[in-house]
Amino acid sequence: MKFLKTVSLDQAVNLLNQHCTLPRENEMVKLEDSLGRCLFADLLASEDIPYYNRSTVDGYAVVSLTTQGASESIPVVLKSLGSIPIGTMTTTQVTPEATLYVPTGGMVPQGADAMVMIEDTRVLDDLVLIQKSVPPGSNLVLQGEDVAQGQLVLPKGHCLKSQDIAALASLNQLQVPVLKRPNVIIISTGDEFASPQEELTDGKIRDINSHSLAALCRETGLNPVGTTLVRDDLEEIRSAIRQGLDQADLVLLSGGSSAGERDYTKQAILDLGGDILFHGIRIKPGKPTIGASIQGKAVIGLPGHPVSAMMLFKTLVTDFFREQTRSQVPRVMVKARTRVNFPSQPGRLTCQFLTLSEQDGELFCQPYYSNSALVSQLTQAQGFTLIPEEAEGLDAGTVVDVILL
Ligand code: AMP
Ligand code: MG
Repeated sequence: MKFLKTVSLDQAVNLLNQHCTLPRENEMVKLEDSLGRCLFADLLASEDIPYYNRSTVDGYAVVSLTTQGASESIPVVLKSLGSIPIGTMTTTQVTPEATLYVPTGGMVPQGADAMVMIEDTRVLDDLVLIQKSVPPGSNLVLQGEDVAQGQLVLPKGHCLKSQDIAALASLNQLQVPVLKRPNVIIISTGDEFASPQEELTDGKIRDINSHSLAALCRETGLNPVGTTLVRDDLEEIRSAIRQGLDQADLVLLSGGSSAGERDYTKQAILDLGGDILFHGIRIKPGKPTIGASIQGKAVIGLPGHPVSAMMLFKTLVTDFFREQTRSQVPRVMVKARTRVNFPSQPGRLTCQFLTLSEQDGELFCQPYYSNSALVSQLTQAQGFTLIPEEAEGLDAGTVVDVILL
């Protein structure tokens, strides 16, 4: 059996998009459970933040015009009207002749348009000496200046980070509409896995992909609802896929996706009436990848090699998810200059691992070479860059996009 339907990565993503769907459904989650989830609706501010003109210092609320020319030697003398405790409001008006004490975060009273810091004042009985002039708007935040009522706070599709949780908390948005995470079944195929209770013996390995793919699903916004280990057996693989389709929106297999004697993934999909959209992607590592559609659901056969499986998840599966759900799954990228020539394999999109270093304030990258069968490279390398199919490597000194791992 040969790879008959070899495609580029972009073509592979497009084929999956054209023939398969992932559900786009809404659910409400508590604010504290919303980290990493993608918004299902634009979030608009339901109220002004701050809700009132708010002092940013401990000091005195004044009419700024009256402070003109004030200095330590010639202070402006105002009458004290008392103070406003934090968390309360007052109806007392500030006038050109009088002032009120306001703590940091407290409400700036009516009539005042600026705050004078306490360090620039002196108190004499019921008088306050203002020793510095302040322009209008000094040391305060106006009502709605942070966020005005009705303003777009976060757009639909945005995936929530800790700072977004802060923004939502400030708006008292305790229930958040998010994309329901599509369910995924993960199937690892192979005769070589030792069970977790078993000691390793010659020829046996640990199953990595169930764990790494489940973690990638969680990181991306997919919900891994089950992982299964099956042997290199056509009937076992078929029945695992069939069950997976009953339980999930997406079936991910790893291993058995190549064109060898005991690679049954493709046959199992065909037996279930599936449509093979592509077999083989022009990418390195990760060529033996299968994309198929069974009754409109995507079944993706990833290479068994753990590094390849992860890279194909980070590219193919993530792009498919992004486009189907219109989620802006963050991809942390930096620009770096290549320190040396980077070789690549023309005709294949080369995913080159690299390490980063800084020199004179500029970020440089160098290839991280390792035997592609070593999983350690994913923890040792700091990122990777994608060298286009048509390029014959990269010259030293080229500025490239680095996707951080
Ligand atoms: P395959 O794609 O099935 O030919 O597997 C390619 C290589 O990846 C072989 O060396 C397998 O032993 C290894 N491999 C396949 N599946 C896994 C897995 N779930 N965990 C770790 N290694 C795997
Ligand atoms: Mg195998």
